[in-house]
Amino acid sequence: MAFFQCPKCKNKWQYNISKCPDCFLDLERIKSTKIKVIGISRVKIPSIFHPKTPYYILVLENEKGNRWVQKSIREYKIGDEFRLKPSQNKQAVSVWKTKYDILEAIEKTIELIGGIKINEESKILILPTLISAKHPYLADNTNPEFLDSVIKFLTQSGADLKNIKIASQSFDNVPIEASAQKSQLLNVCLKHKIAVLDLAKTSFLKKEAGGLNIQISEQAFKNDLIINLPILKLDQKKKIKGATNNILTLLSKKDYLSFEENDEILKAISKVLPEYLNIAEGIYIQRADKVVTYLGLIFASFNSLNLDRVFAEVSMIKNLPEHLKDIKIEHIQITGRHPDELQYNVEKIY
Ligand SMILES: [Zn+2]
Repeated sequence: MAFFQCPKCKNKWQYNISKCPDCFLDLERIKSTKIKVIGISRVKIPSIFHPKTPYYILVLENEKGNRWVQKSIREYKIGDEFRLKPSQNKQAVSVWKTKYDILEAIEKTIELIGGIKINEESKILILPTLISAKHPYLADNTNPEFLDSVIKFLTQSGADLKNIKIASQSFDNVPIEASAQKSQLLNVCLKHKIAVLDLAKTSFLKKEAGGLNIQISEQAFKNDLIINLPILKLDQKKKIKGATNNILTLLSKKDYLSFEENDEILKAISKVLPEYLNIAEGIYIQRADKVVTYLGLIFASFNSLNLDRVFAEVSMIKNLPEHLKDIKIEHIQITGRHPDELQYNVEKIY
């Protein structure tokens, strides 16, 4: 966990209040390097947010003596080092809680799936979820704060803003500019001076997926890294809308409207595209009844189908969409947080 410290008075906070209230100076973000378990409680009584028991509440301490608590399904002993090993398996899915700091959760989830190698020359294409002219609190589109954190993560990892593009297109009658503005994603692009790309205006290439001919924007094949940024949610039929649905933004409008729900396309799309990194926003989840509920998680994976399957497990969605039915949860390597310690039924009304 990162802490925020005033460079003058050295006061520390667990969340980014941006300026010290006494000195009015910008806070420095300090990451933890070595973490130890210094306290444990075992909880046996289930509650709404913690249906699975027993679990443990760990008191953790970093090398600078800063302390915080974390839930764990795994038992630790006092004095144990608390360290999570990154996976080198490209099919793995990482999960992390956002708590106060979205950037930290993004760093953690990417680190846990083996990290990414980028430099100032890397051409990066970001595909946010941008499907409606709606305000951020409805959790229909990527949250502007989430996109902002992804961009910060990329620049601190060595990317040059000049080589980052945010791409989307409209699949209905609302111009993409209107959605970009209302969702406040346009503000984030303007703030960082990042180019916005309307995929509808790009050229499309003929490809085959799941035995069907489809048209994919050539942009999918012209960048060094594609970052898919789904906001996880449920549709009106209580079906998951996740990372695999959002990557279809690269299709031509005609194909998107024909194949949006096509299970063969959803299963096969990743084989047609170059490898893409999925960083999924699971902080506020829009349910089937459009009510937004809090889950507070970020998921990352190079495999969008596995990511969507892990989201289904954590949010306790029993009725899997056809394209996820063959994926066995026990076959997926999950790093970071364990689904058993995160499970929360997003559809249940408490
Ligand atoms: Zn201060």
